[in-house]
Amino acid sequence: MQTDYPSWAEDLGHGIHAVDTGFHRDRFDAAYLMVQDGHAAFIDTGTNFAVPRLLGLLDALGLPRDAVTHVIPTHVHLDHAGGVGLLMRELPAATLWVHPRGARHMIDPSMLWQGALAVYGAEEMERSYGALVPVPAERVKTTSDHVVIELAGRPLVVADTPGHARHHHCLWDEETRGWFTGDTFGLSYREFDTARGAWIMPTSTPVQFEPELLRHSIERLLARDPACMYLTHFSRVRDVRRLGSLLLALLDGMVAIGRAAPSGPTRHEAMKDAMLALFGTSLAAHGCPIDSAGLRALLEMDIELNAQGMAIWLDRSLG
Ligand SMILES: [Zn+2]
Repeated sequence: MQTDYPSWAEDLGHGIHAVDTGFHRDRFDAAYLMVQDGHAAFIDTGTNFAVPRLLGLLDALGLPRDAVTHVIPTHVHLDHAGGVGLLMRELPAATLWVHPRGARHMIDPSMLWQGALAVYGAEEMERSYGALVPVPAERVKTTSDHVVIELAGRPLVVADTPGHARHHHCLWDEETRGWFTGDTFGLSYREFDTARGAWIMPTSTPVQFEPELLRHSIERLLARDPACMYLTHFSRVRDVRRLGSLLLALLDGMVAIGRAAPSGPTRHEAMKDAMLALFGTSLAAHGCPIDSAGLRALLEMDIELNAQGMAIWLDRSLG
């Protein structure tokens, strides 16, 4: 059944479609569909609740479910990979490609669930993620650095990109000279677009944030001289050189905040306040007119997660 092209998807050209998964708020979390000569790949999936949209886009494009040959989460954080198992059940011809450090969590998601439970709590887990569906081991392939995944002859080159998480890889699409960056190239919300273009910030979500590795991974992505980046949060950005410089400067700012933060029970709030000030100052220089209450509302969740992830990194590097 062919349906109209949905309002929550965007055709980016060259067979690439961004799906707004609807997670958390509009224009927060994207999944991508790449179509090449009647074959298709999903890159990131969003959560279980995104699966109807992912399947709905296939319907709108007139693609049968067995046209999807690859599902490739950038890493196994649940806003990127929580829906993988449920989606794989609907796609009989698909192989799951995952970083070797993430594969076991897709085959048996119980540890992933427990880890996320510790960060988000039980109520939020039920409401935002739903039960995680395991993927049969025989449908899972692991990637390695420089491996090429082919979609009907179109190459997607894998780069191992630790720093945000050890289980993170990015994918290079030569045709558009773009990286599918997951969370490695940070977060860029469209609410912060101004006449100067997009704004971007790093994400240090628990529990594997390692700033030195993240800097190295970002520099590695930039070394390809990309024309664009396909971010999960949210969608495609261009002007990559400027955004890369901004991202690295803000990463340095976050590290400085972590190193300067008081130890003890006041550290968490102190880091959150300092990050809000850092990002607010950067956004003001970017010409963003949103006031501090508006910024707090848009960035609250990311700043909370960033502070938690920075604390784990600080405790590990001190201990
Ligand atoms: Zn992540």
